[in-house]
Amino acid sequence: MGTKLLVTSAFIIIGIVVSFSIRREAPGLAIEETSIWKSYDRYKESAIPYRIIKHAEMQPLISKHVSSGLLRSSLQGTSVQGRKINHLVAGKGKTKVLLWTQMHGDESTATLALFDIFNFLSATDENDSFRHFLMEKLELHFIPMVNPDGAEVWKRRNAMDIDINRDAHALTTPEGRFLMKVADEIKPRFGFNLHDQNMLYSVGSSSKPATISFLAPAYNLVRDMNETRGNAAKMVVLMNRTLQKYLPDQVAKYSDAHEPRGFGDTFQNKGISTVLIESGGYQNDPQKQYIRKLNFYVLLSALHAIADESYEQEDMEQYHAIPDNGRFLFNLVIRNAEIVKDSLRYRASVGINYSASVDGTGKRLNYVGAIEELGDMHNNYGYHEVDASSFVSIPGKVITMKKGEWEKLSLESEAALLRQGYLYVRFSDQRSPAGPVRNRLLNLMNGISVSSRPIALYQYPNFVLAASGGKPAYAVVNGFLVDLSKKISYLPNTYGY
Ligand SMILES: [Zn+2]
Repeated sequence: MGTKLLVTSAFIIIGIVVSFSIRREAPGLAIEETSIWKSYDRYKESAIPYRIIKHAEMQPLISKHVSSGLLRSSLQGTSVQGRKINHLVAGKGKTKVLLWTQMHGDESTATLALFDIFNFLSATDENDSFRHFLMEKLELHFIPMVNPDGAEVWKRRNAMDIDINRDAHALTTPEGRFLMKVADEIKPRFGFNLHDQNMLYSVGSSSKPATISFLAPAYNLVRDMNETRGNAAKMVVLMNRTLQKYLPDQVAKYSDAHEPRGFGDTFQNKGISTVLIESGGYQNDPQKQYIRKLNFYVLLSALHAIADESYEQEDMEQYHAIPDNGRFLFNLVIRNAEIVKDSLRYRASVGINYSASVDGTGKRLNYVGAIEELGDMHNNYGYHEVDASSFVSIPGKVITMKKGEWEKLSLESEAALLRQGYLYVRFSDQRSPAGPVRNRLLNLMNGISVSSRPIALYQYPNFVLAASGGKPAYAVVNGFLVDLSKKISYLPNTYGY
């Protein structure tokens, strides 16, 4: 080795050592010193165990915490249809924080989490020092369910069909005006804008769902960083660090395109450091209960970091390092499926998604599947996937029976029919109902015959994947994958055609 090379190598090594030693060690997280994660079930509000929550269910829970003295009822708003919008205050500290949820009526995850936080704040246990610190240092302002009219019918917009989060400038909606009034009156240091996003967002181009996405919204079109937005970005870094232990590689960053009509962007511009949290999807969590726990935990971690100002120590560069939201996920991907179209027979991958809508009870979600992609999907991933390379695709068979017989079919009998390749029941004595059918495995159908094409783009996803000898291995019913070799339980819903 020549002298020159030796000297160069020495410099490189010194350079590496120096850069490692000046890289700041990430400070510890106060919440990790507590039993809060482990003890979550103690705080979880058991009166609201599902994703859908209505204003009328929320009010008694609020009254409970107002009577106990935890929450003080402050300003009061009214929705278009006359529902009360609550502004609730806890704590007596100097630093004000505003948290609001569900300005989109069908985005409830953080509303559930706020009630868990109220239970946490009013408990007495080994985590007293953590909660007392929050209550001494902070004045916490909560507006759970900004859009109660939308929540009533599980829709995004308010009763005027206006998107409240595009109303921060025009203030056409009473809900938007109320949120603005609270913010103007209290002038919080931090704001938390709490939403749900499409479960098909992925972390970058990876196979991982973006279960939580953060954003420090931009206050102008060129997306400058100033102190207000910088503090929100540092807070995002801290929240991301909090979550990685419980949600490795499933945190992303929401698009930071400036939206001057949005509340986050507008508050940032007013000097309120505002963080957007979007709750996405998580494997096998249709009621979003794990995501609710993540919201609960990460919000408490953030509040503590505001109380002790530790967020200031975060490295803002790490904000830019968080991967962006991508859109590479499907609910179900069937790889290398046999496609039959007229005289054509070929193999391609199939992407299936469900759309959800609330049912007649207003309390449950029904799903309708659709085949949304056909072709090369090597860049895409599914919450569920199956490799169909060794299977043929066949249409489901129809079995005819009386309505009364269908009503008496047990789960086991339906599973047995599914294993023989039946996907539909036709009533011999009357028409069957159209639309979602709950607690079933087989679809219902009337006069129309089954298409000879088992899989086709934009069609309903109902088909059987069978071994070359014809024995069914998988059934896809209303887009739900059923492994016929395993124990079968009821699907969320099948469909009447
Ligand atoms: Zn939203």
